[in-house]
Amino acid sequence: MDRKDILGISYFSDYIKPGHIIHDLKAKDKVHAIEELLDVLAKQKQIKNKKLLLTRLIDRENLVSTALGDGIAVPHARVDIDGDLSIVAGRSEKGLDFEAPDKKKVHLIILIIWNPSLPGLFNHLFAGLAQFLRKPEFRQRIFDAKDKNELYSVLSEIELRFPQDDKIISRAGLLRKLQEIESKKQKAHKAQLKTLQAQAAIIREELDQAVLVRFDRLMERYGFAVAEVQDGACQGCNINVSTLMSSAIEDSNDIYICENCGKYLVAAKKKKK
Ligand SMILES: [Zn+2]
Repeated sequence: MDRKDILGISYFSDYIKPGHIIHDLKAKDKVHAIEELLDVLAKQKQIKNKKLLLTRLIDRENLVSTALGDGIAVPHARVDIDGDLSIVAGRSEKGLDFEAPDKKKVHLIILIIWNPSLPGLFNHLFAGLAQFLRKPEFRQRIFDAKDKNELYSVLSEIELRFPQDDKIISRAGLLRKLQEIESKKQKAHKAQLKTLQAQAAIIREELDQAVLVRFDRLMERYGFAVAEVQDGACQGCNINVSTLMSSAIEDSNDIYICENCGKYLVAAKKKKK
């Protein structure tokens, strides 16, 4: 796959095969659902070590839920596989608990395993998917699909337009977590440090290099890199952000950049009502 394919527009059908779809998952919980999806790949000999993959996927899931909200989750792991990437999707009629930020049950799981030799591919695929799957009428068609073929044909329509640099799609929770881990690392004991380093590594391998460079620079300079927007103001510099940006950030899991202080802007955590 060349760079043009990665950065341009492509379709989800370039990445998923009809045989990699489960119309109605049997599993009743997150772990079994992920296992059921991995079985599809194992049966087709696309993966070798199912146990290891399952552990990796669950470790990542426990760090920060991969649920995008609105009934969709995208569990993923970066593991050495034969091809560039393997994707398998499953629909759950009843819905599964993924500890989604919006607390909604998950009815579509898109599981992605990608090869470490292609660091940028996953970021772009994830951003394209997260962006497209925000359309409510499209999500409804996925949930309503009557059989495997219909589900495949709806999923094939997903157009992967890779977003411009003004925002980072659906990654606020992840960057927040990285900041939490990096701060903890500074005070950690030796034994704890190892765990924290491993957790940070998992997050770092799925963020763009440019994002990480900027993040580290901010951490070094200010001790933090991620600032919340509260009452329209960046909490990193107390300057108001534009109304447009402020309303776009609210309730979203996207990351913006403060035009004044350059920190990463995320939505304020919801207050209990
Ligand atoms: Zn600011």
